[in-house]
Amino acid sequence: MAEILILGGGIAGISAAGHATKAGREAVIFEAAERWGGLLDNFTVGGFRFDRAVHFAFSNNEPFQKVLDGIDCHIHYPEPYNYENGRWLKHPVQNNLFPLPADEKVEAILSFMDRPSMDENANYREWLEQQFGTVIAERYPCRYTEKYWTVPPEKMSTDWIGNRLYRPSLEEVLYGAMTDETPSTYYLPRMLYPKKGGFRAILEKLARGLDIRTGKRAVHIDTQKKYVDFEEGSREYYDLLVSSVPLPELIGMMDGVPQAVQEAAAGLWATSIALVSLGFRSPGAGQHLWFYIYDRDIFPSRAHAPYRKSPDNAPPDCSSLQFETYFSRFKPLPLEGEALVEHVIDTVEKLGLAEKKDIVDRDYRVLPYGNVVFDRDMVERRDYVLKHVGECGILSVGRFGEWDYLWSDQCFLSGRRVLEHLAVL
Ligand SMILES: Cc1cc2nc3c(=O)[nH]c(=O)nc-3n(C[C@H](O)[C@H](O)[C@H](O)COP(=O)(O)OP(=O)(O)OC[C@H]3O[C@@H](n4cnc5c(N)ncnc54)[C@H](O)[C@@H]3O)c2cc1C
Repeated sequence: MAEILILGGGIAGISAAGHATKAGREAVIFEAAERWGGLLDNFTVGGFRFDRAVHFAFSNNEPFQKVLDGIDCHIHYPEPYNYENGRWLKHPVQNNLFPLPADEKVEAILSFMDRPSMDENANYREWLEQQFGTVIAERYPCRYTEKYWTVPPEKMSTDWIGNRLYRPSLEEVLYGAMTDETPSTYYLPRMLYPKKGGFRAILEKLARGLDIRTGKRAVHIDTQKKYVDFEEGSREYYDLLVSSVPLPELIGMMDGVPQAVQEAAAGLWATSIALVSLGFRSPGAGQHLWFYIYDRDIFPSRAHAPYRKSPDNAPPDCSSLQFETYFSRFKPLPLEGEALVEHVIDTVEKLGLAEKKDIVDRDYRVLPYGNVVFDRDMVERRDYVLKHVGECGILSVGRFGEWDYLWSDQCFLSGRRVLEHLAVL
C-alpha cells in the first residue's frame, strides 16, 4: 500500500514525490526502466557521456531556479547554427540570410515584404508564410517541420509555438542579409548545464532520499478498487495515483474507458527519436554547440556537441557529437541501426565536422517518446482524455502525462501539482 503511488521516475514523477514527501506524505515511485531518470537520464559509451538528446536548463520559474542554485553549472550563451546545402547560417535563418547569393536574398526579402496578412485560424504552414513570406517559410521551417515533426506543416496547429519562433522586423531581415554581425535574437538569453554528471545531475539532487523502485512497469489500473498491477505480477494499492506515463498508454491500462475517450486517446501521437552518438579521440569535433540541418537527403534534423556542454562529458583531448533523427507512425525511419550510424558518419565528413578515422566509440538507440505532435484539433482531443483521467481520480503529470510541449522545468512544476490534491487524502 502506498499513500501516494507515482508512475514514472522522470522529473515530473520525482518532483511529485519530492513535494509530497516534503509535505509529510508517503510517496513511492514505480519506474518501468531499470534506471530512473526518463528523458533526463544519460548513458556512457567508452569514456563518453551522452544525454538523451540535447538538454540545457533555462527557466524563469522560481521554484526550479532554486533547484539549480545549488548545482555548479557552465553558462552558455546560445549561438546555434543552421546547415543547408553546404552553407552555415546563423540562427534564426529568417534574419540571418547573409551567406546566401544576392539573387536568393532579394527573392526572400521581396517575399517577406509581400507576406500574406495574419489569419487567426491559420494552420502552421499558413502561419509560417504569414510571418516570414513564402520563400523563407518553404525553404527553411516548412522543410524542417517535415524532418522534426514528421508531418507537413499544414497538418499542424499553432498551439505550441509560444515564443519559440522569432518574428523579425523588416529592418532585422535587411540587416541580417547584408552583414553577419547581427545581434543574437535567440529566444533564450542564456542556458545552464551542470559541470559534472551530465543533465541528470539536476535530477540526482531532486531524487535524494526518495523511495524509487525500478523495473516496475504498470500494466493495469483499477481506479475503483484503487490498485495498480505491474508486469512482473505484483499489485500495489494507493490512496492517490499520480501518473507520468504517456496518456494514450495510461488509457490502455484503465478499465471501463468509454469508447469515445479511447478513440480520442488513439488519435494522440508523438514523434520518436533515433539517437546516434559518436566519440572522437581528437578534440574539437563540430564547430558549434548545436545546429539544425535542413537538407532532405541528410536524415538527422539536429545535432549537438556534448563535450561543449561540459568537458566532463568526454575524456581529455577528446570530443563528441550526437545526432537526432525523428520518426513517427506517419514517417518511418529511413535507415535503422548500423545503417543510420554509417549515414551519420558520412554526414560528419560531408559537413566537415570531424574525421571518420578519429571515431573511437559509437552508439545507436531509440527514444520512443520525443515530442507530442500538435496536429489540428489535438488540444481538444487531449483535453477530453485528460478530463476522463481526472474524473477517475488520477493526476496525470509531465510532458507525456499532460501531453504538452513541456520543458523539464515545466515538468517539475507539473509534478508539484500533487500538492493541490493532498487535501483529499
Ligand atoms: C529532444 C529533446 C530535447 C529536449 N531538450 C530540453 C532542454 O534542453 N531543456 C529542458 O528543460 N527540457 C528539454 N526537453 C524536455 C524534457 O526532456 C522533458 O520535458 C522531461 O524530461 C519530461 O519529464 P517527464 O518526467 O514528464 O517524462 P519522462 O522523462 O519521459 O519520464 C516518464 C517516465 O515514466 C516511465 N514509464 C513509462 N511508462 C511506464 C509504466 N507503464 N510504468 C512505470 N513507469 C513508466 C518512463 O520509463 C519514464 O522514465 C527535451 C526533450 C526532448 C525530447
